[in-house]
Amino acid sequence: MSLIPHLINGELVTEDGRTADVFNPSTGQAIHKLPLASRETIQKAIDSAKAAFPAWRNTPPAKRAQVMFRFKQLLEQNEARIAQLISEEHGKTLEDAVGELKRGIENVEFACAAPEILKGEYSRNVGPNIDAWSDFQPLGVVAGITPFNFPAMVPLWMYPLAIVCGNCFILKPSERDPSSTLLIAQLLLEAGLPKGVLSVVHGDKAAVDALIEAPEVKALSFVGSTPIAEYIYAEGTKRGKRVQALGGAKNHAVLMPDADLDNAVSALMGAAYGSCGERCMAISVAVCVGDQVADALVAKLVPQVKALKIGAGTTCGLDMGPLVSGQARDKVSGYIEDGVSAGATLVVDGRGLSVAGHEEGFFLGGCLFDNVTPEMRIYKEEIFGPVLCVVRVNSLEEAMQLINDHEYGNGTCIFTRDGEAARLFCDEIEVGMVGVNVPLPVPVAYHSFGGWKRSLFGDLHAYGPDGVRFYTRRKAITQRWPQRASHEASQFAFPSL
Ligand code: NAD
Repeated sequence: MSLIPHLINGELVTEDGRTADVFNPSTGQAIHKLPLASRETIQKAIDSAKAAFPAWRNTPPAKRAQVMFRFKQLLEQNEARIAQLISEEHGKTLEDAVGELKRGIENVEFACAAPEILKGEYSRNVGPNIDAWSDFQPLGVVAGITPFNFPAMVPLWMYPLAIVCGNCFILKPSERDPSSTLLIAQLLLEAGLPKGVLSVVHGDKAAVDALIEAPEVKALSFVGSTPIAEYIYAEGTKRGKRVQALGGAKNHAVLMPDADLDNAVSALMGAAYGSCGERCMAISVAVCVGDQVADALVAKLVPQVKALKIGAGTTCGLDMGPLVSGQARDKVSGYIEDGVSAGATLVVDGRGLSVAGHEEGFFLGGCLFDNVTPEMRIYKEEIFGPVLCVVRVNSLEEAMQLINDHEYGNGTCIFTRDGEAARLFCDEIEVGMVGVNVPLPVPVAYHSFGGWKRSLFGDLHAYGPDGVRFYTRRKAITQRWPQRASHEASQFAFPSL
């Protein structure tokens, strides 16, 4: 079994100490060992970032962007290799892995516009011979902590933008599927990034705590589950750091009686079962307005859920791979048992699925529950597996109340042909990302991504315009060049026009 190294100060390094196993979820076998960084290793990454910062901060934004242009090319040239690594360690299908990489590359494209996005604001003659402007300056050393479910895309939400803004970045990726993340970082160095500007350190809570506690780290971007997001936000802000911490989700799709049901079913199948439901924007609840819609929806879903093509992610043409770990499969199976005991109707049971040739893999078939009610755990909690819950309500208002009362507010969507209903939904729903006949409304790179309520801790969303603000601090400069030979008397009243 090979040992996956850290990437610190441009070098691949290992360390003696604690390790974790990295699995191939399709075979259930451990395939790599991963070092879990000690405090000393984290400090080495921080020191190298600190040393690289003065020169990188003074590198013209257009030159920083040139590195990103080359990075984009390298990512495209290495697409197949990256997708293979994602699929081997995460389990998602190759096609899905390519999709995630492409959405990640969008963020590199946005970062290529560094000179434009860092232009600042300028006002001439704000007073006599006085001009004023706002400059957006980098923070220094910043860090990112990322989840297992998008090992390529989520890190790419963070560091291309942080880096073109002039910061140095330390990434602590998920310990479950780190190989694609590491390869992508190496490609950025190959594209010409100076050493120390980006480091990748593997680890668990100890590594994260070292980053939180280090005074040199000025900002933390986190994406993962809500309890950890809340912990990192509380501990980071307590130490005066800027923190954006994106958490878990329970995303509802509302089906109105006038929805185009066949298209809604196709959309729901992909959004609920794609990537085995391991997406923070996965639809996990279908809220049907009226029993007629619910009956018709369930009747159309059942054969499709039963027919999902499931196998090793690296086999082409599948709908779904395995879950990421045996622990994840057991947790999701526990929710299914819980739903049954709470009285929900399990219409399709995906438990006990065995994939020929991959009997030890962490597979679970698609599951569908009907008659789910709001007090059930399968409704309240994030399951993060291939499980769709159907909830029946009587009106759009009732559907919206249900969604607004839920603790999470990441994504949602409505299927309807009624513009008035859609407009009301967009206006009043308490969720950060909303789709109208679009099941996974993940904003493109030049908008920003983030949920509401307990799906995001912090003020600014990830990437796009909010990302630029997050990774820079505003400096307002007011400058006077008096005309020669003029003299102004002291002014004791507060200056105004
Ligand atoms: P996780 O919270 O278990 O882990 C995320 C990161 O935090 C990893 O790097 C992990 O090493 C680290 N970590 C874990 N335990 C920690 C602890 N006690 N202290 C400090 N750091 C710790 O999440 P996961 O299982 O990797 O990812 C799935 C979760 O991420 C789901 O809840 C999903 O909804 C969420 N997610 C959210 C978004 C979003 O944009 N809102 C996007 C992707 C995933």
